[in-house]
Amino acid sequence: MDRQQFQLDSFLRENIKDLKPYSSARDEYNEVSGDMVFLDANENPFQNGVNRYPDPQQYKVKSQLSKLKDISTDNILLGNGSDEVLDLIFRAFCEPNKDAIITLPPTYGMYDVLANINAVRNIKIQLSSDFEPNYDDVLSAANTQAKLLFLCSPNNPTANSFKADTIEKLILNFKGIVIIDEAYIDFSKDESWIRRLKEFPNLIVTQTLSKAYGMAGIRLGVCYASTEIISVLNRIKPPYNVNELTQLKALERLSKPTAISEEIKRILEQRDWLILELKKIEFVDTVYASDANFILVKVDDADTRYTGLIQQGIVVRNRTNQPLCENCLRFTVGTQQENIKLITALTNL
Ligand SMILES: *Cc1c(COP(=O)(O)O)cnc(C)c1O
Repeated sequence: MDRQQFQLDSFLRENIKDLKPYSSARDEYNEVSGDMVFLDANENPFQNGVNRYPDPQQYKVKSQLSKLKDISTDNILLGNGSDEVLDLIFRAFCEPNKDAIITLPPTYGMYDVLANINAVRNIKIQLSSDFEPNYDDVLSAANTQAKLLFLCSPNNPTANSFKADTIEKLILNFKGIVIIDEAYIDFSKDESWIRRLKEFPNLIVTQTLSKAYGMAGIRLGVCYASTEIISVLNRIKPPYNVNELTQLKALERLSKPTAISEEIKRILEQRDWLILELKKIEFVDTVYASDANFILVKVDDADTRYTGLIQQGIVVRNRTNQPLCENCLRFTVGTQQENIKLITALTNL
């Protein structure tokens, strides 16, 4: 949608439009300087590193991200993993038992779980056999109740990025909010859609520190969108949704971007090696192209091969019950040593 047509208010839930957020002690007074005495939040005054509430706006982490991604802090919202960010989006836009979302299976399972939790209908439009969105089917399924369209690109579990021109046409023509889940963008050759946020007022991009940034354990998800959308999500997020330890760890990691890109480089080298080796395995039918840190592979019999790998101490993901993924296993790219073990185990099957 273009700027003139788009009215954010018309997509918001009624109760969210004029919601007054909880005002925390740290929201009301946030000029933290060394010599102030803080007696406003009923905290224990004895210092142990975490006796104070964390910064509800995670200013330092956002500033780091803002520099790394070249985007204003006002276009960033952080959450307890992308899962929380996605849930906030549901709660801002979807009226329970009335509104719907559109997802494109096979894709990330959390969209459906969140739709169920929020009592929102999930209209599923299967990807084409080459794992691309069926543009016409998506738009014809979109009705006035379809508020959100989830595009996972690179997509989990298929590992491909959707064609940029299809994504662009969907953002332009879907009469609702388009969420592009870029959990795997740092492994992709394509550019992030955060570069295009200014053009599309109905676009939200989510990313995470769980994959390329190597911090799944701290739970930090990132949402990039217009200042209008970010300010709505800010009003409904729990005040202290990102804890102090997470903020500290994230800052430490984000201050060493070269260490992160070095790891990404190694993972990509390993991905290329794995793809070559997997193609040599006799019961492997198809090794799908990957733009992520995992590889989808069609084998002769996924259940048997899955169990065979478990018996050799290797756990992979069996995706055989997902649409278009019959007899498919999903392999995460590990360290060189782990990948050699995987190939050896497959050879032994
Ligand atoms: C792993 C993954 C995420 C990450 O979720 P977090 O809650 O940030 O760990 C998001 N989307 C997709 C498609 C994923 O595969």
